[in-house]
Amino acid sequence: MREVQHFIAGAKVAGTSGRFGDIYNPNTGDVQAKVALATEGEMDAAVQAAANAFPAWAATNPQRRARVMFEFKRLLEANMDELAELLSSEHGKVVADSRGDVQRGIDVVEFACGIPHLQKGEYTEGAGPGIDVFSMRQPLGVVAGITPFNFPAMIPCWMSAVAIACGNTFILKPSEKDPSVPMRMAELFMEAGAPEGVLNCVNGDKVAVDAILDHPEIKAVSFVGSSDIAQYVYARGTANGKRVQAMGGAKNHGIILPDANMDQAVKDIVGAAYGSAGERCMALPVAVTVGKKTGDEFRERMVEAASNLRVGVSTDPDAHYGPVVSAAHKAKVENYIQMGVDEGAELVLDGRGLTMQGAENGYFIGPSLFDQVTPEMTTYKEEIFGPVLQIVRAETLEEAAALPSKHQYGNGCAIFTSNGRAAREFAAQVNVGMVGINVPIPVPVSYHTFGGWKRSAFGDTNQHGPEGVRFWTKIKTVTQRWPEGDIGDQAFIIPTMG
Ligand code: NAD
Repeated sequence: MREVQHFIAGAKVAGTSGRFGDIYNPNTGDVQAKVALATEGEMDAAVQAAANAFPAWAATNPQRRARVMFEFKRLLEANMDELAELLSSEHGKVVADSRGDVQRGIDVVEFACGIPHLQKGEYTEGAGPGIDVFSMRQPLGVVAGITPFNFPAMIPCWMSAVAIACGNTFILKPSEKDPSVPMRMAELFMEAGAPEGVLNCVNGDKVAVDAILDHPEIKAVSFVGSSDIAQYVYARGTANGKRVQAMGGAKNHGIILPDANMDQAVKDIVGAAYGSAGERCMALPVAVTVGKKTGDEFRERMVEAASNLRVGVSTDPDAHYGPVVSAAHKAKVENYIQMGVDEGAELVLDGRGLTMQGAENGYFIGPSLFDQVTPEMTTYKEEIFGPVLQIVRAETLEEAAALPSKHQYGNGCAIFTSNGRAAREFAAQVNVGMVGINVPIPVPVSYHTFGGWKRSAFGDTNQHGPEGVRFWTKIKTVTQRWPEGDIGDQAFIIPTMG
């Protein structure tokens, strides 16, 4: 059986722990490969490789670092088909969606190509007599990223492309559910001209994560995953003196006002709720309709749109979405559907019990739709992360807008309206990190920055964009003068420029 190893110091190395995780094919339920689960010692070997590579990489001028990124971008584009198919085979998202995942990663690599400009410091000439002040952004050293299963191409690039372009050397710990794309990308990065040890990929589970969090040589950790683990990573990493950003779960709301273009809202929300089987942290699993007429119309149109969705194996070019990632995740989503029924929501479409001819053991769930969901329900409060859309009815915009603001998660939200003033006010006031105005999935482009609020992110710096460059560098400020002659009593007083 195929074995996914580690990638350390520029080469694939077999795992030594004797522990392996199963990589499933979500279309069939078969185990298709094994992934090595690292020991603390293997993590340490990767850290040593990264530490050895750091001085020379940090001293490589930013234009040369950018050239590696340009070549990496070209190789990712040239290998798009292979990467997308590999991604689909382990994750279960349809191939067109996997191409989007890879493309979003490429976008961040493209952003990182601008590092000579992005990492430039600041300079003040003549801050005092004969005195100049300048600041520079220096890399931190060996840094690490820990990523979730749901975007195995994009999220590793969010972290590693920016960190490495800044002159750091990197340890990636991908999700053990679909590690093959990150491993292949590490190989391509070497092929692009990166020196060995600059990007290492260590596969594993909690043992590997804890080894990262406790390793004294690792200066910063970026994490994306579920909120409880994000909080744990943040607490343990910062307690060990590391810089940590830890993105967590989400429950994004789409608010539909009576003046919304209903055609657009339904088309957008059906894709945002059910696309990728709902396994996106920027999915839109809650639709808040304002007024009875809007709610009734939205429900009727959504029933039609969702009923027409085609669920299929990830290689089916006509499928809108494929299976969820694992049997355990399928059971979890189906339990939430039952819980919704038990707590009194109206189950309008039930996606449980869907079997696919020829793929009877795949992890498929049909589109599910609840109406009459209320904020007290557990199924509203928690993240389901499956193809389940919940309609919450509100009477006014104020009542609707309060819902995402009060929710424990604050990743993204969207408003559908033709009223510019209402949209502007909503965007300014809502207590959430990313907002779409007639845009269902407001994932910012790579040169802006990605991050949620509340339990959707721990730490205060976002992914990619200028915030990413700040996270992966430390600033040093130099005040210089070249005095002539005696500097006199001024040496004894606190210097002022007045
Ligand atoms: P997860 O939290 O189970 O796993 C994420 C990473 O943490 C993996 O690398 C995993 O190996 C590791 N991990 C798992 N359990 C651990 C433990 N007990 N101790 C230490 N490490 C552990 O998340 P997932 O299921 O892979 O991904 C889905 C979650 O990620 C969803 O909650 C989703 O909303 C979230 N997500 C958030 C964002 C964002 O930017 N906010 C983006 C994508 C996904």
